[in-house]
Amino acid sequence: MKKIVIIGGGASGLTAASFIPPNNKVLLLEKRNSCGKKILVTGNGRCNYWNENQDLKYYHSENNEVLGLINTIENRNLVLNFFDSLGIVPYVKNGYYYPYSREASTIRNALLEQVIRNNVEIVNDITVTKIMKNGEKFTIITDKSNIEADCVILATGSLAYYKDNDSNIGYNIAKSFGHTIVKVLPSLVQLKTDQKFVKDWAGVRSDAVVTVLNNGKKLKSEEGEILLTDYGISGICVFNISGLVAKLLDNKEEVTVSINFVSWYKEGNFLSWLEIRDKKVTNITVLEFLEGFLNSKLTKLILKLSNVSNNCYWKDLNVSQKERIVSYIENFNVKITATNSFDKAQVCSGGVKLNEIDPLTMESRKVKDLYIVGEMLDVDGDCGGYNLSFAFMSGMLAGKSVSRND
Ligand SMILES: Cc1cc2nc3c(=O)[nH]c(=O)nc-3n(C[C@H](O)[C@H](O)[C@H](O)COP(=O)(O)OP(=O)(O)OC[C@H]3O[C@@H](n4cnc5c(N)ncnc54)[C@H](O)[C@@H]3O)c2cc1C
Repeated sequence: MKKIVIIGGGASGLTAASFIPPNNKVLLLEKRNSCGKKILVTGNGRCNYWNENQDLKYYHSENNEVLGLINTIENRNLVLNFFDSLGIVPYVKNGYYYPYSREASTIRNALLEQVIRNNVEIVNDITVTKIMKNGEKFTIITDKSNIEADCVILATGSLAYYKDNDSNIGYNIAKSFGHTIVKVLPSLVQLKTDQKFVKDWAGVRSDAVVTVLNNGKKLKSEEGEILLTDYGISGICVFNISGLVAKLLDNKEEVTVSINFVSWYKEGNFLSWLEIRDKKVTNITVLEFLEGFLNSKLTKLILKLSNVSNNCYWKDLNVSQKERIVSYIENFNVKITATNSFDKAQVCSGGVKLNEIDPLTMESRKVKDLYIVGEMLDVDGDCGGYNLSFAFMSGMLAGKSVSRND
């Protein structure tokens, strides 16, 4: 009988524990007072645990080719069948999976119950600080006592969300076993600017397309609802470009995000559309004219930045004033100075280099019987259930493989 120790009782660690055949002695060590706490806050408390569209373009890793060997059709089906077997009925909206209850606790509780049914011993409130390997055996050093193990599954997550000052222990353990850590940066996070106008737009929500510009070159666009704040920009479309922006800023590159506030207008020339509309409206001010399709706080800011008085009339503006206004509506450029901090991020990019892991088993290619899963690996996904999807797929593979004899 093998003694298997899982470090971390989050989404990936609980899934690994669920898949280990019951004829093993399994111990799960979790530093918080209960397992799966982060699952409870996912998807605004509703847990978007999967996405129907598993195209690899929604994932980011320096080794996407390895990711493709983990995220296979077979593994996707195994994870979905697993949730089926736990009794979870999915509520699927635009391909995004939530539990039908729309309560994240449904997912957390179902995983925890399965782990308990699988005779896994759970120890909460214990922090692993170091792991050593002597011959075939691992010695796990914790803040309570030392524990021996034949196999270890590292599932300690990333630096995102919690303000703990010991969140990097997992990375340090991986490093101590010779693994490379791709620089860990916040992702799915808000973007900051030091431009003064932000105080005037704080609180505005709008549909938009956001585009990352690096020295004028368009690198990535995302469409969705943007939230304009007193420090910069937020919203799911911003989160989905934030990983790229974090990497550019880390390389000391200049980053501008261009916002198109009329993403619904697909015809081509927005100025001519305004001219045609102006013929239809009666005697209304330029403020009222633009408020017909733009948030009023935002309209006032755009007029202020364009040096146009709220009370004048569109027909009285000269061409360059009109072009300035249109440019702010379609290409409002914000110079990004930073991302928000790790504790505001939903996930981290970077982590243990993926090509140092066997994608069929999640076993380390550096150390036999050491497995690494979940967000501590160099894989991060867009919003939409991709990060939990990866935590479940990688956890499942490690759980299935860890006790095999070879
Ligand atoms: C606010 C928020 C919303 C999110 N929403 C979604 C969503 O809707 N859909 C989605 O797909 N993803 C979402 N995510 C991301 C998702 O939650 C994570 O990617 C996922 O939980 C990662 O799983 P993990 O097991 O790798 O890490 P974690 O879930 O972070 O688990 C790691 C565990 O290890 C424990 N641990 C760490 N170090 C030690 C140690 N030294 N000793 C013992 N234990 C340790 C931690 O306490 C933790 O319980 C969200 C994240 C946040 C913060």
